[in-house]
Amino acid sequence: MTVFTAKEFDNHEDVLFFHDRKTGLKAIIAVHDTTLGPALGGTRMWDYGSEEDAIADVLRLSRGMTYKSSLAGINLGGGKSVIIGNSHTDKTPELFEAFGRAVDQLGGTYIAAEDVGTTVKDLEIARRRTRHIAGISEGNAGDPSPATAWGVFHGLRAAVEFELKKTTLAGVTVAVQGLGNVGYGLCELLRNAGAQLIVADPHDAAVEKAVKNLGATAVGIDAIYDQDADVFAPCALGAILNDETIARLKVRAVAGSANNQLAEDRHAKMLMEKGILYAPDYAINAGGIIIISHEGPSFNREKAMRQVAEIHDTCLNIFKRARAEKVTTAEIADKIALERLDRVKSEKGDLALAS
Ligand code: NAD
Repeated sequence: MTVFTAKEFDNHEDVLFFHDRKTGLKAIIAVHDTTLGPALGGTRMWDYGSEEDAIADVLRLSRGMTYKSSLAGINLGGGKSVIIGNSHTDKTPELFEAFGRAVDQLGGTYIAAEDVGTTVKDLEIARRRTRHIAGISEGNAGDPSPATAWGVFHGLRAAVEFELKKTTLAGVTVAVQGLGNVGYGLCELLRNAGAQLIVADPHDAAVEKAVKNLGATAVGIDAIYDQDADVFAPCALGAILNDETIARLKVRAVAGSANNQLAEDRHAKMLMEKGILYAPDYAINAGGIIIISHEGPSFNREKAMRQVAEIHDTCLNIFKRARAEKVTTAEIADKIALERLDRVKSEKGDLALAS
């Protein structure tokens, strides 16, 4: 088992392993970079096949948060945590209290939030043992999913504007994969904007609701890649843009909330060569982290949501630069994120030298 030499390590500042004998908690907290502020990232609970898988996942996700916050222009660093366990069978209040104590040991360098396998309720329990939890209480940001959906909606609008040369979504067909917290919210926004929906989710009740309330057309979970749609909006799983699925896609653009959509970096190039515009995942799905970055005594939801809507401009800028420089949108997103990070690093370095 390796950490320092793992390919995902990428100069992490801290990687901490926690074990609580009483509750059986096994957690890893990774802090990738705090140049822009405290490292904020969700807590994933997953039944990992091996410890190596858990380490690779937390490192990859934590690094991704550094890039996401940097690109979104917010003053937060990148971090993430994982709890090794089955989120359906292994959850207890004591486990999340123990996790809260683990987070507290970092003294605010890392701030936890919900993620795959954890809920706002779980994090509220952890909050009993640490104040370094975000995205929970009402009056503050609360569940970030509506903001994420709002951001994806605006990024998708930018993709349609750039690739289809349409300034409205009326009559645009979007194939949405996953009708969870983000996917369903996105469908509502798209429908209200006049888009046609094709949807897929293994959860029948969600599909029935979308068909009944939003006039969506339901297809099987594997058939979603083959649809004659304008846009594919992946809002469920990672690694869904791969050799097999890209070959099947008939859409002009991919714009959805799922994290780590590209199975491998080279798939960004494959999409470009096929003439499919790709809205980089961490650019378009930053709505949640943006609203959380506004939390505090003067939290103002409207103001935060206005900043989330700027994802439209962020995406449009990426699309234009990628086309002008003849490189992938994924490369440009990384470039912009690193440019900001390097700028702030050198400013901080200058300050340290001056003081
Ligand atoms: P969720 O768990 O609420 O929803 C996921 C949905 O996907 C579920 O309805 C599930 O049944 C469905 N699904 C699972 N397998 C599927 C398949 N093979 N085909 C179609 N649907 C399938 O999760 P969410 O909060 O809506 O997040 C969705 C995605 O967006 C995830 O990748 C998440 O990491 C990412 N994301 C979410 C947020 C947020 O604020 N919630 C922020 C950034 C990124």
